[in-house]
Amino acid sequence: MSSSPASDTLRLPSIDTLLRHPACQPLTDRHGRDAVLATLRQLLDDLREPTRLGQLSAAELALQVLLGRAGERLALQQRSQVRRVFNLTGTVLHTNLGRALLPDEAIAAMHTAARYPLNLEFDLATGKRGDRDDLIEGLIRELTGAEAVTVVNNNAAAVLLALNSLGARKEGIISRGELIEIGGAFRIPDIMARASVRLHEIGTTNRTHARDYQAAINPRTGLLMRVHCSNYSIQGFTTQVATAELAQIAHAHQLPLLEDLGSGSLLDLTRWGLPAEPTVRQALADGADIVTFSGDKLLGGPQAGIIVGRKELIAKIKKNPLKRALRVDKITLAALEAVLALYRDPDRLAERLPSLRLLTRAEADIRAQAERLAPALAARLGAQWTVTVEAALGMIGSGSQPVARLPSAALCMRPLTSKKLRGRSLHVLERALRELPVPVLGRIDADALWLDLRQLDDEVQWLAQLPELHVGPGQ
Ligand SMILES: *Cc1c(COP(=O)(O)O)cnc(C)c1O
Repeated sequence: MSSSPASDTLRLPSIDTLLRHPACQPLTDRHGRDAVLATLRQLLDDLREPTRLGQLSAAELALQVLLGRAGERLALQQRSQVRRVFNLTGTVLHTNLGRALLPDEAIAAMHTAARYPLNLEFDLATGKRGDRDDLIEGLIRELTGAEAVTVVNNNAAAVLLALNSLGARKEGIISRGELIEIGGAFRIPDIMARASVRLHEIGTTNRTHARDYQAAINPRTGLLMRVHCSNYSIQGFTTQVATAELAQIAHAHQLPLLEDLGSGSLLDLTRWGLPAEPTVRQALADGADIVTFSGDKLLGGPQAGIIVGRKELIAKIKKNPLKRALRVDKITLAALEAVLALYRDPDRLAERLPSLRLLTRAEADIRAQAERLAPALAARLGAQWTVTVEAALGMIGSGSQPVARLPSAALCMRPLTSKKLRGRSLHVLERALRELPVPVLGRIDADALWLDLRQLDDEVQWLAQLPELHVGPGQ
């Protein structure tokens, strides 16, 4: 005999044998014959080489076992790619984790908009064709003092559309200190170029004066632009021209002032002890002709870009063919209206709007929660780890107030391994937390894994899945 005993005695079963096995029936019932067939083929392909090399035992190749593995694969494939997570990173409006969480009122409105026909572009009073912006225009005007409103896909779209509508083939004057990159390839100079606005940069990174704007205005100028420095801060020897003064300069030359507020806020956040963020109402009152801001940053709503300002300029923006390409969908509009409606009652806003509730959660409350949870986590991790409750500093996120910190409390896990193995242990734990049914995301800092509990709303579920945390022996 020339071939090895392994290849003689152990063979992969045929697809047919597996399909005819009684344990296959529940899989076919659940996932359909085509999906089961594809998964079995894939499984057998993956096992062919190890089987030929004699690396698998007879037990591992038993029909029941193979069908069990196929069942696991099918269940994984069936699981949605969009997964809920616990955001314990300390960054509340985390762009990579979906930014603002919507209130129940918005979720109910989205459900209705998704489930039934609606008056999206239909005026129920006259029976004539309507405009989707009309659904939220009244509320936004009331909350900002704006003359007119239009809404698009996000603030990046709002900036692109406003620039292109008001300044195409002309120059846009902007301070060098405001030529920002937001991340994800959104850079003001690039957006200007795509909007066909010629960038005319003035002043310096740290200081730009009124006279710089005045000297720059020429017959080719189409607009003045101001961009709120969202995700960075310029400190020290700095000068910036106030919006009110900038508006005066623009208006003296019959030019519009466009202000990208980034996050923007509809209300003064200092009322809740948060750092001051410019409000949309103030920017308009100061004389900005067009103001743009995001729906899912501090506003706490769905992803959207809101453009407010002077009536004739908004009309021009709405006539731009790009508006049709960048418009919002009905589900977003429904959610946005519901969120905006909550702003009519500021006294109860912090209870009803999840992002504001989380941003304003008291440090003592978060610490008490950490103290409650620490023993269970310590017991689960075992003797190889220490678990402590520590003061932490979180962030608002999404570029709002990059230097401001939110005092919070964290569960802090440190491995008791030698210094050399510490980094590896932390990464193993980080991965194990990510592999939980609802992945738990924290951050590694100073030789420890931190779970900032500011955003832990669902303590019961967090605890319930703790028994499934497997860090493995000796780690
Ligand atoms: C966040 C931000 C944007 C982009 O807004 P999106 O809603 O994420 O598209 C644009 N400009 C500024 C100043 C920002 O802070």
